[in-house]
Amino acid sequence: MPTSRKTKRKNLSIIVSEGVGFCSGVKRAIKVALAAAKEAGNSVYTLGPLIHNPQVVEKLEQVGIKPVKRLRKGGGLMIVRSHGASRDMLERAESYGYKILDATCPFVRKAQENARKLLDEGYRVVIVGEKDHPEVKTIRSHVKNKALVVETVEQANRLKFGSRVGIIAQTTMSVDTFAGVVGDIARRAKEVLVFNTICIETARRQERAGSLAHRVDVLLVVGGRNSANTSRLKSLCSSICAKTHHVETASEIDGRWFKQGATVGIVAGASTPKWLVENIVDKLKQM
Ligand code: SF4
Repeated sequence: MPTSRKTKRKNLSIIVSEGVGFCSGVKRAIKVALAAAKEAGNSVYTLGPLIHNPQVVEKLEQVGIKPVKRLRKGGGLMIVRSHGASRDMLERAESYGYKILDATCPFVRKAQENARKLLDEGYRVVIVGEKDHPEVKTIRSHVKNKALVVETVEQANRLKFGSRVGIIAQTTMSVDTFAGVVGDIARRAKEVLVFNTICIETARRQERAGSLAHRVDVLLVVGGRNSANTSRLKSLCSSICAKTHHVETASEIDGRWFKQGATVGIVAGASTPKWLVENIVDKLKQM
């Protein structure tokens, strides 16, 4: 249930969205990484940050889990992030002597499998997502980089495809955008097969954020600036509540955002830990 607390000075009412804290995929990746660090000590690597939250990645580095930009010969333990990994990367890591620990989120794995199924059955695969996002890149690699990627209905509208189109989504895609792209393609293709691969946890988070945005004067979206799902929560909430701000930490909060007696909502991305949200609540209570 949402919690509501009154503060003394600005008399803010604070409503924290239900379900803040890590999603199951992020929890799992962190658990795998921490167990590996305990076992292997100082040579645990992730290709890119384990999750898209700089504050958590910094803490993980302190216990020996290091993000690297590229693979180097010599090996160690390589954790596959929740976003998954491309086939090329996995093969290269093995040839360089890394031991692989796979923490790919089951929702992401399902999206990879569905993309492969569509390709095998002769559909032109379309991924609704961000072309440069690591998850989308790995899904593309599972269909020999043959999938088209669109992020908006406008982009979908410009796509050229054959008569049979298979559509999947980046797991953290906006439900509305996905539905819009599917609708657009369905008007022009003869046969369309759709796998809604948006993860249920993302869909719920978006739903709760949207509903909270209607009830508050100011909304804070907490999460990494490099986190796709946090950015999407920000744009969803901004379209409902004009006073929506994206913050990574409590230090970014500006007292001028809040009028006396305002109701402040807090939502957070899937890779935002609860303690960051609690820091924000504490800061608001002190105002
Ligand atoms: S947001 Fe969903 S798909 Fe992404 S890691 Fe979390 S549970 Fe998995």
